[in-house]
Amino acid sequence: MADEPQAAAERSPLEDLDHWEEFLLQRYPRPESKSSFRDYGANVRPGVREFYRLNHTHQTVDFVRSKHREFLGKSRRVMGVWEAMEYLNTLVDDSDPDTDLTQIEHLMQTAEAIRRDGHPRWFILTGLIHDLGKILCLWGEPQWAVVGDTFPVGCRYSEKIVFHEFFRDNPDWNVPEYQTECGIYEPGCGLDNVLMSWGHDEYLYHVVKDYLPEEGLAMIRYHSCYPVHREGEYTQLMNARDQRLLEWVRAFNPYDLYSKGDRAPDVEQLRPYYQDLIDEFFPPQIAW
Ligand code: FE
Ligand code: FE
Repeated sequence: MADEPQAAAERSPLEDLDHWEEFLLQRYPRPESKSSFRDYGANVRPGVREFYRLNHTHQTVDFVRSKHREFLGKSRRVMGVWEAMEYLNTLVDDSDPDTDLTQIEHLMQTAEAIRRDGHPRWFILTGLIHDLGKILCLWGEPQWAVVGDTFPVGCRYSEKIVFHEFFRDNPDWNVPEYQTECGIYEPGCGLDNVLMSWGHDEYLYHVVKDYLPEEGLAMIRYHSCYPVHREGEYTQLMNARDQRLLEWVRAFNPYDLYSKGDRAPDVEQLRPYYQDLIDEFFPPQIAW
């Protein structure tokens, strides 16, 4: 049955999933770019604003726990990594089919940029798969529960989180226990013990956690956590291991954010190299 128009707008406020990432680029332009344009607030597309309103309103502790129960049993599908890439590629956005990269092209472009810089094979593979969690969109999850900057739930929201004002509509805003510096967590407990807002990072981490080194897993799990890796927030929850792994997340971030202007990769030509790389780390099929 077709959605009510209102419900459809709530699920897909972004015309194109990449508009979230374009907005990231406005906020965090390439360091070497001449543009000193920082007033992204005035230039944000209405869909992006609405997207963050929904995200900040609905990402509660209870919501995150319910998504863990729903998805972390990984009982939806059994498929190989390449198959998952092709599956993700069936996610078609509405706007600009001529200029937008496909999902596989973004993944390969990220991996190719990492490869060009001579990084280890696990790092290249991490680039190749880092967004596979976006298949959540194909299972009916609304955009605001798949993409967007992530942040800890169950403790005070950092004021550096973009569109912080929208948290006033989050039911957790009125739960005093959730609004202290550490909230439901012990100081220094480590990010492993912190509930992050639900999205493609956390989901994919659980799918691949048995197969990659911890540095790659941290890149996957926290690559959208701009409040932590870009803004330096939430150190009160972190331990020494997090600090060490965050250096890797920061090393990964430019490849994700700034490789999009690169030439589109030749997927078919590169496929054998990447299939070998996948086979080195993953069994033929894994649970999703
Ligand atoms: Fe991502
Ligand atoms: Fe990405």
